[in-house]
Order: sequence, then structure tokens, then C-alpha cells
Amino acid sequence: MISKSNLSVLVVEDNPGDYDLVVEYLSAVGNTNYQFQHCTSVQEVSAILKDSRVDVILLDLSLPDSSGIDTVSNMRGINVDLPIIVLTGTDNDELGEQAIQQGAQEYLNKNEVSGRMLARIIRYAIKRKKMDKKLETLALTDPLTGLYNRRYFFERGWNEYVRARRYHHHLAIIMVDLDFFKQINDKHGHACGDKVLMEVAKLFLQTLRDVDLVARFGGEEFIILIPETDQAGVEFLAQRIRQEIYDTPMEHNGKNFNITASLGVALIEGVVGDFESLINQADIALYHAKENGRNKVELYDVNLASKLASK
Ligand code: GH3
Ligand code: MG
Ligand code: MG
Ligand code: MG
Repeated sequence: MISKSNLSVLVVEDNPGDYDLVVEYLSAVGNTNYQFQHCTSVQEVSAILKDSRVDVILLDLSLPDSSGIDTVSNMRGINVDLPIIVLTGTDNDELGEQAIQQGAQEYLNKNEVSGRMLARIIRYAIKRKKMDKKLETLALTDPLTGLYNRRYFFERGWNEYVRARRYHHHLAIIMVDLDFFKQINDKHGHACGDKVLMEVAKLFLQTLRDVDLVARFGGEEFIILIPETDQAGVEFLAQRIRQEIYDTPMEHNGKNFNITASLGVALIEGVVGDFESLINQADIALYHAKENGRNKVELYDVNLASKLASK
């Protein structure tokens, strides 16, 4: 006997008759056990998701606290990252397309669905959402280290920078570049170099807080965004990272060896321009850390920039 699969469906629908209809339709389809949860507004969704597992959301667009296409974007606004099937009374192709663009997996007219059709669409929507997430992960992360990639860093970092500017919050960037990495590759081989990069990524994740954002910026270069920190805080953290990289032995063919890194730090307070200017400052500071002998932390200040310009 084939065992039935279980699916938890959250129906966001303010019309009790329409909710009953969905339950009736899906309950009549034999191959799945559906568990239903019901709420009548966007506002209630967060609380339900906090308390219970949901596999798919069926979403009416006309709700007491939201209407039209905004209902889909409002779900995003409360960080809903689940497959969403819009189930609405209005047959409108344009609205349907907008809903998909806003991240819904399907758009259906309540008056046109049957039980089997809805069941099938739910299954496909769940599969499609899984695939979308996989693609998203591929697009935003570095396959070797699993850290975010440069593209994601810029996207999120830019937003955080703008917000920090607006509300006068602290924010700092640490740029990390491994020292003499080419020699590691030359001496131990590229695969060993890769392993070192993975180890360093692990060190970052162990040392940093959830609110910090770390990414692989390029080859053997990493970048970290630290919100809510001041000069003393970020310098302390940068020194700690430098020390941990220095203290953690790497391994190749049963033999241990040590590596070092140089770090450049820049703080939002010293920036006149945009997010890229802040990154450039961290990069200048990093350059000086290299010049000063590597295995160093340097903090950006204007004198560093003029020293560089006069070279
Ligand atoms: P410095 O102390 O000045 O930073 O010297 P370095 O040797 O670290 O710097 P350089 O820029 O000369 O070399 C970086 C090397 O990193 C060259 C490149 O082959 C290597 N690299 C870049 N990406 C990867 C990767 O994904 N895996 C491995 N194994 N090596 C990589
Ligand atoms: Mg409604
Ligand atoms: Mg290097
Ligand atoms: Mg480099």
C-alpha cells in the first residue's frame, strides 16, 4: 500500500464559505492527508508560521488588512518564504502575472478550480518553490565555501549602509586577504588551497554574530560587514579574526602548517560617499596592512589615503 503524504495548508481567506470549499475540495482527493489552518488576514500569518509547520499558503487577495497585488508583497514583507498560491475571485491575467512576479507560484480563479486540479497545483507549487530556492542559493553563494558571494554582499550591504546612514547607526567593513596564498597553492597544490579557504570560512562563521554579514569577495579575499560597532569594537574583532587565522593549524598530507591574513578596517563615520567608498577605504587599509608586513590589522584614515596617493 502506498502511504499517503501529509501536507499542511494555510488558507488565508476572509470568506468562510470559500474556506469551507477549499477544505471540501482537497479532502475529497485521496492521495494526500491535508491538515488545514485558517486565518482571515495577513496580520495573523506570522503568528501561525511561528507556531506550526506550513507547506503551502493559499492566499485570497481581498482581505480586511490588504487588497490586490499588495497582499502578495505584504507576505514577503513579513518574511514568508513558502510556496504561495493566489486563489482569488477575480479573473485578471495582468494581476496574475504581477502575483508571479512578486513571488507567488500560482494564480488561480476560485470559480475555476476543482479538487484534483488544486491538489496537483499545490504539489507542483511546492516543487517549484524548492527549485527556485536552490537556484537562489546558487546565485547568491560561493560554491566552495558556502559563504555569500560578492553579488549578494553588495545587494544587502548597500541596503544596510543606506539604513545606517539614515538613522546614524554605526557600521564597519573588514576586508580580509590571506597572505602569500599563491605559495600555499604552489607548495601544497590547488586542492589544499581550496581546503584552506573552506577552513577560513568556517572560522568566520564561528567568530561572527548572526547580524554580521560575511562573503567571499574574490579568490582569497573575504569581506565582512559589522553593524552596530564602534572603532574599538571592530578593531578588537579584526584582531581576534587575525589571531584565530594565525592560531588555527591547516593540514596537508598529515602535516600541519600555519597561515596568516591581513585585514583592512573602515568605519561608516569616515565616509562621505556611498557604500563603495566605504569598501574602497577598507581596501586601502588592507593594502597598508600588507605593506606593513602582513599578519596585521590596519584602520583606514585619511592620512593612509594621502600616503597612498603620494606613492
Ligand atoms: P599577498 O600576501 O600579497 O596577498 O599574496 P598572495 O599570494 O595571497 O596574493 P596573490 O593575489 O598573488 O595570489 C592569490 C592567489 O589565490 C592566486 C590564485 O591562484 C589563488 N586563488 C584564487 N582563487 C582560488 C581558489 O578558489 N582556490 C585556490 N586554491 N586558489 C585560489
Ligand atoms: Mg476576500
Ligand atoms: Mg593574498
Ligand atoms: Mg588577494
